[in-house]
Amino acid sequence: MTKCCNTCFTDSELRRKIRTDSISEDSDCDFCTGETEVTVNCESLKYDFEFLIDTLFVKGEGENSDDLSILIQNKLLVFSDNVASPSDLLKNILNDERIYDGSTRYYPRMMEVEFSSYWTELRQELVEKNRFFPQNRLFTSLFRDQSTENRVFIELVGQLTDSIPIGSNFCRARIANNILDDDQMGKPPKKLATDGRANPVGIAYLYTSEEIRTSVSEVRPSIGNTICVATLSSLLKLRVIDLTAPRRKFNPTTFEDKELVIALSIVDMLEQLSMELSKPIAQDRTLNYLPTQFFCEFIKSLDLVDGVKFSSSFDGQNNIVFFEPNNSNYFSITDKKLARIDATQHTIVDI
Ligand SMILES: [Zn+2]
Repeated sequence: MTKCCNTCFTDSELRRKIRTDSISEDSDCDFCTGETEVTVNCESLKYDFEFLIDTLFVKGEGENSDDLSILIQNKLLVFSDNVASPSDLLKNILNDERIYDGSTRYYPRMMEVEFSSYWTELRQELVEKNRFFPQNRLFTSLFRDQSTENRVFIELVGQLTDSIPIGSNFCRARIANNILDDDQMGKPPKKLATDGRANPVGIAYLYTSEEIRTSVSEVRPSIGNTICVATLSSLLKLRVIDLTAPRRKFNPTTFEDKELVIALSIVDMLEQLSMELSKPIAQDRTLNYLPTQFFCEFIKSLDLVDGVKFSSSFDGQNNIVFFEPNNSNYFSITDKKLARIDATQHTIVDI
């Protein structure tokens, strides 16, 4: 009987199940190099994987057909990087060569819902046709209370939410000739709030980054510019939806039947949205910010999180935009300095 462990998987529901059903606290895992805490017989996860396979894949050759373990990993990222051979692990979990013999090919089932394409249509509608009352199917399903799609989306928001403890640090940069006052390093006043990726003109959000270098890059300084850089420390426990890796963070085994298909389709859309949030747009094309502004306002309206986390296209590190911080209540400024972009190496130099 082969054994797998909690660190073989990234899905937190599977990890919880393994902890609950564990047979031993000390035995070695047969499949991974992670820090094994508890193990179970592989076959005890058979039902969970059969459900994922039946819901999402069809056995045989078809468009995009591939080895089943590769398809599962590409779509769901359930196996952790510690697992040497997901194919071997899957074979032992299913323990039925009629389903999977280590190389059996499957292809993805046709999705009944395609939120990514609805999102693409909605983006166009918001910019070119209906700004405040769009008719797109995404708007009339996902964004409407009481729909299954909305319920699944709320569940996903919960799975993607990060709790930020009090005392966490964030960086904020502004191009300036001197060190600015504390109140100039927080959220800008409404009358000065220009269009951003997350906020429309006139509605101010606070844009921060986890690293100084990222916050400096995000203000897009020219060589020779001086930049005031501040470190903000959170005074409250905050929550943000983390869009940096939605596929890795969502837990497919928590959804049932049709909900899994909807959840996966929403994850496809969130990946697309996450990329759009990462990309800066030229100052004269601010209409192109409308779709991401629309989405961020929807997230804000749910009142479940305080902001949105996404990757910066400048260096791959993370940006966090906070919706409503009354600066002095949310953050204290713990450090400020002046920096400049070095002309020879494009590096940031303290001055
Ligand atoms: Zn393991």
